[in-house]
Amino acid sequence: METKVYDVIVVGGGNAAFCAALSALEQGASVLVLERAPEEKRGGNTSFTGGTFRTVYNGVDDIRKIVPDLSDHDIARTDFGEYTVAQFLDDIGRVTQYHTDPDLAETLVRQSTDTLLWIRGHGVRFVPNYGRQAFDHEGRYKFFGGFVIATVGGGRGLVDGEAKAARKLGATVRYDAHVTSLLRGASGVEGVRVQFGGGVEEEIHARAVVLACGGFESNREWRTRYLGPGWDLAKVRGTRYNTGDGIRMALDIGAQPYGQWSGCHSVSWERYAPDFGEPEAQTSGQRNCYQFSIMVNAEGKRFVDEGSDFRNFTYAKLGRIVLQQPGGYAWQVFDAQSDQFLRDEYKLRGATKVTANTLEELAPQLEGVNPEGFLKTARDYNAAITRDAPFNPNVKDGRHTVGLEIPKSNWANPLEVAPFQAYAVGAGVTFTFGGVKIDTTARVLDVADTPLPGLFAAGELVGGIFYFNYPGGSGLMSGAVFGRISGREAGQYACGLRTK
Ligand SMILES: Cc1cc2nc3c(=O)[nH]c(=O)nc-3n(C[C@H](O)[C@H](O)[C@H](O)COP(=O)(O)OP(=O)(O)OC[C@H]3O[C@@H](n4cnc5c(N)ncnc54)[C@H](O)[C@@H]3O)c2cc1C
Repeated sequence: METKVYDVIVVGGGNAAFCAALSALEQGASVLVLERAPEEKRGGNTSFTGGTFRTVYNGVDDIRKIVPDLSDHDIARTDFGEYTVAQFLDDIGRVTQYHTDPDLAETLVRQSTDTLLWIRGHGVRFVPNYGRQAFDHEGRYKFFGGFVIATVGGGRGLVDGEAKAARKLGATVRYDAHVTSLLRGASGVEGVRVQFGGGVEEEIHARAVVLACGGFESNREWRTRYLGPGWDLAKVRGTRYNTGDGIRMALDIGAQPYGQWSGCHSVSWERYAPDFGEPEAQTSGQRNCYQFSIMVNAEGKRFVDEGSDFRNFTYAKLGRIVLQQPGGYAWQVFDAQSDQFLRDEYKLRGATKVTANTLEELAPQLEGVNPEGFLKTARDYNAAITRDAPFNPNVKDGRHTVGLEIPKSNWANPLEVAPFQAYAVGAGVTFTFGGVKIDTTARVLDVADTPLPGLFAAGELVGGIFYFNYPGGSGLMSGAVFGRISGREAGQYACGLRTK
């Protein structure tokens, strides 16, 4: 039984949690981090990421501040462009259909760069994300879609770096620690109930609690209840431990549900992937090069404009669209011209892939697809392309189709060069959008918008920022910005109580 009273307990062990821990420690608070997963499975969804952050930067000089060892060679061969506050806000507004909470969105955007520099100050290193966010086109890299920064060592490097820094500043970190509920007393939230290693529930007291323990994406029952029918069958891309506990605990004491409870980040994902993410094969299920394909459903029909925008602004809503197709699956079909744009994961064992030298030979191999329907779709598509616009993967090239019921707006290459290849995809859920309401100082609010004393939140379980869709790279940034704020506020609040 733990008798010590901590200033701040942080629930969770991903990016948001460790940013909160670091920030509370900077306030002089004593900090206990409680992470549900065993140590070898630590790091939550964060550890499944490529560690890529969407952040504001006004040209290469800002990139240099975040990546000081950027070489002159890299600068010479790269068009980094810029990504301004206005662009980031526009992107969040547009993809969320302007439902995003403006105060939370402004906080996220305006504090993005400073927060990355702060993480860097704690020993985490960053690099430009050449591998996944820029194509080499005619000898020059150009970043598309607004996010260029990735952590050295990916998500695992990020969360391990943050955890190391937190321990160095004095945090106690306990794994296999399943927090089940919040303790309430005269001053508000006063600690948590927790089971270590599945044992008897214990109480640990604290002056403030930060909830940073993820959404409900790994809870099959909640997915079906809130996201809707069919979501029980979706594959979870990341950790199995984010089952909505933090949201439930907060709602149990009167927190306000906020954001889009029926919405989630979901992608087109290997159809026969395991039920949960596999830390040793984090990217193996990704099928994010669909903008260079046509996607067909069981009837052999296209059902989405694969090239409506850069994949950073379309991939996070595609899982739902695939799930809505008959049987909840689809195939991505490429010809040899697009092979060079397929990421490594398309080539790994475990991808459900078929190849053929003609479309007629390919058609019967597309399991569960009407072959005649597919062949008609492919022929109609090839005939509808305006070939005068040159293909360019780094810009929205305007190479489009004319006259199809479902257009393809960019990167419309005909399927005409053998060999052809196709990949079976289903829906992979990344994280859920509904959660609790916080203010811009990360205090959890009740239904009257009044802060619940002693309770703060950050990361996936915060509702109100993302709706329908999501600008790639914003999840880590949101967790970092609000994690840092929540730790600072919780630390100040707790230290204030201690000296009373
Ligand atoms: C495959 C994949 C790739 C992604 N790529 C990117 C990317 O490149 N860039 C980006 O910005 N975002 C990316 N995301 C989204 C990103 O992972 C999340 O937005 C972000 O990591 C969430 O951070 P978090 O700290 O809120 O949650 P997490 O990192 O998931 O941490 C939550 C932690 O809480 C713990 N927990 C849960 N319940 C309890 C409990 N009851 N008691 C104690 N602990 C508990 C969990 O074990 C977990 O460790 C990706 C997600 C996935 C799955």
